[in-house]
Amino acid sequence: MIVENIKEIQNEIKEVCDKVGRDANEVTLIAVSKTKPYTDIEKALESGCLDYGENKVQELDQKYDLLPKNINWHMIGHLQRNKVKYLVGKAKMIHSVDSLRLANQIEKEYAKKDMIAKVLIEVNMAGEESKFGIKPEETEQLIREISNLEHVRVCGLMTIAPYTLNPEDNRIYFKKLRELSVDIGSKNIDNVTMSELSMGMSGDYKVAIEEGSTMIRVGTKIFGERNYNI
Ligand SMILES: *Cc1c(COP(=O)(O)O)cnc(C)c1O
Repeated sequence: MIVENIKEIQNEIKEVCDKVGRDANEVTLIAVSKTKPYTDIEKALESGCLDYGENKVQELDQKYDLLPKNINWHMIGHLQRNKVKYLVGKAKMIHSVDSLRLANQIEKEYAKKDMIAKVLIEVNMAGEESKFGIKPEETEQLIREISNLEHVRVCGLMTIAPYTLNPEDNRIYFKKLRELSVDIGSKNIDNVTMSELSMGMSGDYKVAIEEGSTMIRVGTKIFGERNYNI
């Protein structure tokens, strides 16, 4: 089922891109494998999908050790500063940077290994109290501060939209994230690109692609419901 699910989503990516006049190659499907066994990823790899998302450093680390090294690992969950050191050299991109304190820690750990961390800034578009992410109006300032860090490269923005049964409810947040990205991109801040927009999950990725997403993060629709009780 896993391979079929991925193929179906890849077809949908093409359909939506055709509809809105985008190139489907601009959209990366990140299969969110959190809580799922590494054997599920082994199956998923048969589809050719090489991008996987995890929200816990320890889990990413364990799966990194067990699986082929050509996998692109995306850290999509809230990142504690004391865990950053375990990500160096393993995560292709960190999607969840929302403070200068965290960025400074990333700078420190990546500098030790003389590597560069590609990061996205997580923005809380809907102002939900329960969610991490910086406020839209504070995003540019944060990016300006992070742009001074030699070993951190801001590549774009990420958002987690509210849970809803109607994906159209989230269109406004995707649209606004895109506008924010275009606005910040137009400032030509040194060391910063706004090439990636990480938005859209199982319930709303089609709308997100219509609004310009370049990375959709899909878990349930690929691997099935998650069981947090095990
Ligand atoms: C779990 C998770 C996803 C995937 O959610 P689904 O609804 O299962 O597709 C996407 N992004 C983040 C940040 C997540 O934590």
